[in-house]
Amino acid sequence: MSKTGYFTHRDCRKHEMGPGHPECPERLDAIEDRLLVSGLDHALTRLEAPLASLDEVELAHSRMHVSALRGLSATLIEELDAGGPRYAMIDPDTAMNAYSWNAILRGAGAAMAATDAVIAGELENAFCAVRPPGHHACRDKAMGFCFLNNVATAAKYAVERHGLKRVAIVDFDVHHGNGTEDIVAGDERILMVSFYQHPFYPHGGSRDADNLVNVPVPAYTKGLAVRELIETLWLPRLEQHQPEMIFISAGFDAHREDDLGQLGLVEADYAWITERVKDVARRYSKGRIVSCLEGGYNLSALGRSVEAHLRVLADV
Ligand SMILES: [Zn+2]
Repeated sequence: MSKTGYFTHRDCRKHEMGPGHPECPERLDAIEDRLLVSGLDHALTRLEAPLASLDEVELAHSRMHVSALRGLSATLIEELDAGGPRYAMIDPDTAMNAYSWNAILRGAGAAMAATDAVIAGELENAFCAVRPPGHHACRDKAMGFCFLNNVATAAKYAVERHGLKRVAIVDFDVHHGNGTEDIVAGDERILMVSFYQHPFYPHGGSRDADNLVNVPVPAYTKGLAVRELIETLWLPRLEQHQPEMIFISAGFDAHREDDLGQLGLVEADYAWITERVKDVARRYSKGRIVSCLEGGYNLSALGRSVEAHLRVLADV
């Protein structure tokens, strides 16, 4: 068995939000194609993402939010049978179809199953190729293509259910992980480090809390400047925190070819960031890393960037 797990599920392909939407099922195809073409597929252990249970996702979300999403899905399916609309709109960018609820639970389920396997030592690290993404999902709110927060749920699960004392969340998506911040701010067991384009969606700043190192950067910032801020701002805090496990919100929309953001990262930057996170994990976390797909909308750049990320995780 390879030490790097690759969690995914066909349900994650069935969730879609209408024609032309950038957060589309083809994103997962682009990643799969790249794994096959590069031969990287052979270096990974493929695993099915299970459905998360409701009490697990309630580690990060209010019962009200979880029931509202489940209810919306049930109503949509019921009305669809009677000729109703195909989508239930959450905001202008975010919608559920008849398959979304299962895809949502698979995303959180993948992150927690990966956490179990990595803590049990069955895998050294894992990547969850799931959608919808999660890092904009707040405790009480779905937004920005996200419904439940996969990474925040898994981080809470690691401390609450596995009893880890300190974990870290690394978020390199071009957008601020406002949902993750909403869920973990003030929880000293969980350190969140990120950089994000600012001003930009979701149009807030980071909150002032001791467990957050969220670094805004202006549009057109390139990889070299991002590497510098990681060395000066992220790494000292990660070393100080000594996380027993590291979660990655792996969004690849800071890539220079991605039109949803205006930053200038390339594949080599994603490899470099992954190396740095892996160094910290090797020193403090027994190598334990669980990475979950967030953004990344230029299909070619997404496939190449995930390949670069996975090559470092799998050491090939
Ligand atoms: Zn993003």
